[in-house]
Amino acid sequence: MNQVDYLRISLIDRCNFRCQYCMPQGADLEYILKQNILTDEELLALIQEVFIPLGFTKFRLTGGEPLLRPRVVDLVRAIASFPQTQDLSMTTNGFLLASMAQDLYNAGLRRINISLDSLNPDTFDHIIGNSRGRSRWLDVWNGIQTAARVGFDPLKLNVVVIPGVNDGEVLDLAALTIDQQWHVRFIEFMPIGNAQLFGDRGWISSAELRQRIREHWGLTEAQVRGNGPADVFQIPGAKGTLGFISQMSECFCDRCNRIRLSADGWLRPCLLNETGQIDLKTALRTGIQTTEIQKQVRELLAIKPEINFKQRFSGTKTGVYTRTMSQIGG
Ligand code: SAM
Ligand code: SF4
Repeated sequence: MNQVDYLRISLIDRCNFRCQYCMPQGADLEYILKQNILTDEELLALIQEVFIPLGFTKFRLTGGEPLLRPRVVDLVRAIASFPQTQDLSMTTNGFLLASMAQDLYNAGLRRINISLDSLNPDTFDHIIGNSRGRSRWLDVWNGIQTAARVGFDPLKLNVVVIPGVNDGEVLDLAALTIDQQWHVRFIEFMPIGNAQLFGDRGWISSAELRQRIREHWGLTEAQVRGNGPADVFQIPGAKGTLGFISQMSECFCDRCNRIRLSADGWLRPCLLNETGQIDLKTALRTGIQTTEIQKQVRELLAIKPEINFKQRFSGTKTGVYTRTMSQIGG
């Protein structure tokens, strides 16, 4: 079992997109009240006094859309300045990135994952639920280009593959890695966020996507494998890599090195079930000592392997996820 040393932190549950697979238009989402969101001070205290002493050295900022969090650059600077922080990264939809990339880089962020589900502006707008106004594709594309220019490395592009919507673009998206040292990662669509779309469309396995790419260019296993859930491959001679995240078709629980903290302070040991969460915000606000909180987190880490294996794609009474990726911190 891997050492769990990686914390994914949701900075905010709100988003400026309405991706069909995550927070579709019209979905009845209950947002966290502002007063229940961990403050910067609370978040930094948890990182410094609870997680770092427990051996956590890797932090990813996500959401919702993390760039919507007020003073996000200051938060990045503070987390990057902890001597124990070995790795600080962010997952963003890229919409606000062009104007923020340089400041984020200067504050100490070095790794960024940007969601890009399509190269076609119409398809892109359809997926992100942008039915009115001008296309948002170019803003995201400019964000990606700016991040590359500023020096983010690695720069990863996340693609959730939805059958009949964007799977026809898999080769075009994979081709982005040929001339650029980018990492395009195909993510299997999960039944979180939009059960109806999932029921209607289903999902495509990573193995099938790899086969399509292999038939076109060939595909080799990359020399270096990341420490995350992606299986990494390369088009022969390409500068970048292709990652496949196969949480539907494979179980990578035995390689899992992460836990998740929601914007309202719930610590969740596993993405795929809802058991075992602990409420760190209430603990902090009721004056529980950070050493006691540390003890609770240590106990949660001790039972994590059991939760991972036994309750994969379960752990809810109804079998339906009550929280979306945007709420959990995807
Ligand atoms: N807003 C940021 C973004 O979109 O990159 C960060 C938060 S988003 C919840 C994090 C990741 O979760 C994205 O890469 C998104 O594509 C993925 N995601 C959300 N819902 C998903 C689903 N139902 N199946 C697979 N991946 C999903
Ligand atoms: Fe927003 Fe990211 Fe969810 Fe899309 S995937 S709705 S960008 S949080």
